[in-house]
Amino acid sequence: MQFSFTEEQRMFQRSLHEMLDKVAPSSVIQELDEKEEFPTEIVKKMAEFGLYGVGVPEEYGGSGGGLAEMAIVMEELAYHGACLLYVYAPTVGFCRQAILSFGSEEHKREFLPQIASGKLRMAMGLSEPDHGSDLVTLETTADLDGDEYVIRGNKIFTTGADNAQYIFTMVRTDKSVSPSRGISVLLTPTNSPGISIRPLKKLGGQAVHTCEVAFDDVRVPKANLLYELNKGWKIVMEHLDEERILMGAQCLGTARGAFECALRYAKEREQFGQPIGKFQTIAHMLADMAIDVEAIRLMTYNNIYRKTNGLPCTKEASMARVFCSEAAMRTAHKAVQIHGGYGYMMEYDAQRYFREAKLWEIAGGTNQIQREVIARELGL
Ligand SMILES: Cc1cc2nc3c(=O)[nH]c(=O)nc-3n(C[C@H](O)[C@H](O)[C@H](O)COP(=O)(O)OP(=O)(O)OC[C@H]3O[C@@H](n4cnc5c(N)ncnc54)[C@H](O)[C@@H]3O)c2cc1C
Repeated sequence: MQFSFTEEQRMFQRSLHEMLDKVAPSSVIQELDEKEEFPTEIVKKMAEFGLYGVGVPEEYGGSGGGLAEMAIVMEELAYHGACLLYVYAPTVGFCRQAILSFGSEEHKREFLPQIASGKLRMAMGLSEPDHGSDLVTLETTADLDGDEYVIRGNKIFTTGADNAQYIFTMVRTDKSVSPSRGISVLLTPTNSPGISIRPLKKLGGQAVHTCEVAFDDVRVPKANLLYELNKGWKIVMEHLDEERILMGAQCLGTARGAFECALRYAKEREQFGQPIGKFQTIAHMLADMAIDVEAIRLMTYNNIYRKTNGLPCTKEASMARVFCSEAAMRTAHKAVQIHGGYGYMMEYDAQRYFREAKLWEIAGGTNQIQREVIARELGL
């Protein structure tokens, strides 16, 4: 059994690639990252193209589509610049799906059309300063006071928070039960009194800030509780496989970008009277990169097939997440090496892919944690 995209999906990818080539060339992404300036104009074009409607059913103003379409978008955004992914993935990759699967009809009618039009951005407030991999023990609390929850605590690494209208905020609402059974999710407006957001300095995709968020007695209407009280952990757990599969697509975009820029360079750059690609060491590095890109593609597509067809994929998604991120990192590392000294210079793309690839081994559950998941699935 083989997975392949439909002709329509291929056309979607081609036209998305061409659109992003035009509005988000590497030089523009590099400049925005250096200035740490939000890619407002590019995001506008992404919305006009209809990217924010992917995965939103037509009845809520979107264009429909599922995991395959989402993977295409993630791959192309990662190829063109991780900052584009940072502005898109929290809202459309994660929060859209959470609202669609767990929101009330009112939530769907309120949030999904605005997400689909690109007007509403959301950030994911899961990680806390003392609770990263061990997320389930998170400490930010929310206590009911009349018709409002009052949030107290701190989140960290909340990407895009300073440019979002809402934060998907995971809070502890019951301390008396086991950690996973006392967590809820509140959709918290970022303009609520008591919220302060501070951007952090980071290695890649700097155009979209990753932030610390402090909640100092922040009052959120009871109606903003997503799904049931104390059942918030389920929202995150149900989304894990999909998130890991999409991470494979991101890795594909990064690895493809790194490979293509290295291949071009190896054909153009001459030393000792011939293109450096003629030296076997360089040619074999490129051959290994091509193998990794193909392997990332196959693992990602296999998981899309499994998930779309209702086959179990927890172990496979974690395996892909580990392999794809490490293969993307290897590919980007080789891309820098093939560029020699120029690979270390900011005006060449290789360094950008190198910095961006590193995050794929960390964010959304590190590769050490993924290996734990795989080991458990193996019965260890
Ligand atoms: C740029 C960036 C953007 C991010 N965006 C978001 C976001 O939008 N929203 C959000 O909520 N979070 C976000 N994150 C947070 C990210 O998901 C966490 O960084 C990640 O889950 C790891 O948590 P931690 O950084 O606290 O590391 P820790 O959990 O402190 O881990 C430190 C090290 O110990 C290892 N380790 C921990 N536990 C174990 C174990 N049981 N066995 C073996 N090794 C272990 C880890 O693998 C790691 O190497 C972002 C992070 C970054 C860097």
